[in-house]
Amino acid sequence: MEWILKTKGIINHYNEKIHTGTQPIRILNHMNVYMFTNTHPDFATELETTIDENKISKTININYGETKINRTPYIKNDDRAIHLDETFLSYLWCVCHSIYTIYIQEIDFPKSNAKIGHEHYKLDGEILAKAYQLFDYAKSLIVVFTKWDVENLPNPEIYLAENRNYIEQPNGFYTEAIKFILCHEYTHAIKHIDKVNAGVYENSHFIEFEKEADFDAIELMKKGIFPNKINELYVQIGITIGILSMFFFKAKTNGTRHPNTEDRLVTALEQLNLDVNAPSWGLALIGLRLWSDQFELNLKIDEKLDDKDAFYHLIKQIKDMNA
Ligand SMILES: [Zn+2]
Repeated sequence: MEWILKTKGIINHYNEKIHTGTQPIRILNHMNVYMFTNTHPDFATELETTIDENKISKTININYGETKINRTPYIKNDDRAIHLDETFLSYLWCVCHSIYTIYIQEIDFPKSNAKIGHEHYKLDGEILAKAYQLFDYAKSLIVVFTKWDVENLPNPEIYLAENRNYIEQPNGFYTEAIKFILCHEYTHAIKHIDKVNAGVYENSHFIEFEKEADFDAIELMKKGIFPNKINELYVQIGITIGILSMFFFKAKTNGTRHPNTEDRLVTALEQLNLDVNAPSWGLALIGLRLWSDQFELNLKIDEKLDDKDAFYHLIKQIKDMNA
């Protein structure tokens, strides 16, 4: 565990004996399961009972392979097994890194430096440029698979100790985002699949199921916030980026079986009872701006407003666009 104390030089987490897969995201696969199982203090015990009672598959299946994202995470209705594409996992980590780094470099550090009166927090053009490059890589995985350029781009497997904050913070958000996805699918497994299998359901029912899956997932995760709140930011940011990551697949936010993505985002942020200064508002602004640029939607962030008000102002523009 000497890497924990390292301040200089290369950190490489790969161990061929324990890490399956070919993409650098492989080093976090075990952590995902551990974090999910420990969503809150009683969850491991709850899982043992519910897995049995609801005949949920005990394994979380990763579809390994160097292919584009074939499917976003899902649970099968017959064997109740959750499936995640390895490439989707890579995509999600890249989105976590990019949105966080762009937020830190473009919103958070400049704001803090202005308050202090000098550049206490280092603005780093190269780190920022690479965050944009990594975001481009993430989007490219939706269309075609190419290998992650681990020599030149940030990744969780091999990196410089000097830049560890820009890797290890996103690791924390990523595992919470995965936890949100797994808790969402878990809710489908225990509450919805029987109903779906039993009969014909209208699309409106599916939308209700989706809302309930998001709601229960967030409640499960809120239950896991420690009394000293040491993990609260990770939970909040993981959920925020987890939902933001759904935007970059298409220009439209509406679906027949899912609530509109902007509604899922608003509902989640409100359910988290965020403080007006919580980073999630600014992170959401960055995510929605990247989406607007991607599809040339021309959304305008009002710089005069604080992040929370600017967020609601953006949401209104998305609503008007959909109307
Ligand atoms: Zn769902």
